[in-house]
Amino acid sequence: MLELLLRPREERRLLEGHLWVFRDELSKIPDAEPGTLARVVTRDGYVVGTGFYNPLSKIAVRLLGGDVERVDTAIFVERFTAALTLRARVLPGESAFRLIHGESDLLSGLIIDLYADVAVVQMLAAGMDRHRDDIVNALRTVFPNLKAIVEKNTMQTRKKEGLELREGGIWGDVPEFVDIIENGIKIRVDITTGQKTGYFLDQKVNRRVVGALSPGKRVLDCFCNVGGFALNAAQQGAAEAIGIDSSQAAVDAAMANAERNELTNARFVKANVFDDLRQRVDAGETWDIVVLDPPSFAKSRTAIKGAIAGYSELNRTAMKLLAPGGILVSSSCTQLVSESMLLDILYREAARLKRRLRLLHRGEQAPDHPILLAMPETQYLKFLVFDIVGT
Ligand code: SAH
Repeated sequence: MLELLLRPREERRLLEGHLWVFRDELSKIPDAEPGTLARVVTRDGYVVGTGFYNPLSKIAVRLLGGDVERVDTAIFVERFTAALTLRARVLPGESAFRLIHGESDLLSGLIIDLYADVAVVQMLAAGMDRHRDDIVNALRTVFPNLKAIVEKNTMQTRKKEGLELREGGIWGDVPEFVDIIENGIKIRVDITTGQKTGYFLDQKVNRRVVGALSPGKRVLDCFCNVGGFALNAAQQGAAEAIGIDSSQAAVDAAMANAERNELTNARFVKANVFDDLRQRVDAGETWDIVVLDPPSFAKSRTAIKGAIAGYSELNRTAMKLLAPGGILVSSSCTQLVSESMLLDILYREAARLKRRLRLLHRGEQAPDHPILLAMPETQYLKFLVFDIVGT
């Protein structure tokens, strides 16, 4: 097996459990096919672990956790089985869940979401891409009732690994859509044209929190996608729930979901949230609950400033729509913006508007997206619920 030598004193983070070896931490970058299995060793011969090596990528090695001799179907069967056991414990009885959350399941570069009998796979790294057949075989072994496996390899980050973008069915008969039930609500997941793997499973538990606060309330769900928060609010008895999204396909899907669940108190509109919220402020509207769940605002460190400006504007405008007693639900999926940064933004914007925010609840990604403590990169979703204190 190819051996890669670490530069002196670079092993500490890895020995503590981090699974990425950066390019500049290796003493040499030997030529090899992207995705080749390699062993990472220190100068005194200590094996830090084995993983997929990619000489093209800034993340030169993605460790698999331990000294893995070979990668074949069996190792995927073993890890998928362990992952399924965990999901069955933390989120029992779900028809849709994330089976593999990359590094957190010791499979760096692999994401797998299950929607009833369809698996949607994302391979972000060359090593996983090379083992596509093993992944398909292992999924079929662990889930004998599976009907189809679809790849959604459309993430731009694949280019950094020297991979092309690809999507479509890779096994079985791919249905046009899959119906799942989440929090007792029927959701139609469009496997082929939906965003990400089809649905945002990470907010499952947080949607229940919003639902529980909603009886009798008027709820504005900003960046609603196929309706997640608004549908939960409507189902729990909101007086009115309106979802806003800039994607017509998402708005159409959300309206169809409302009909499917006979929720006449939910409506959806296509608009740019930034403009739409400003117009609502100008029109003097007030809401009981405003939910903000924007897409990621920064994929790289250079974009963090812009992301902070985006969150500041959104949260400031949302607060203007809330009277004392109103509830602001502020979420962020930008991995590079930490919870403390988000709290800081809210503190500053509330102070500017002379509002007192009170933190009622903090949440994060659902437990089928577990966080590997040694890898802060696996933690990305922030979910903060405030009320506005006032007399
Ligand atoms: N809240 C959703 C997930 C949101 S994902 C849920 O619970 O499932 C982010 C959504 O924001 C996407 O649906 C995307 O279409 C939408 N979006 C991105 N930029 C937008 C903008 N400026 N205005 C409105 N929607 C936007």
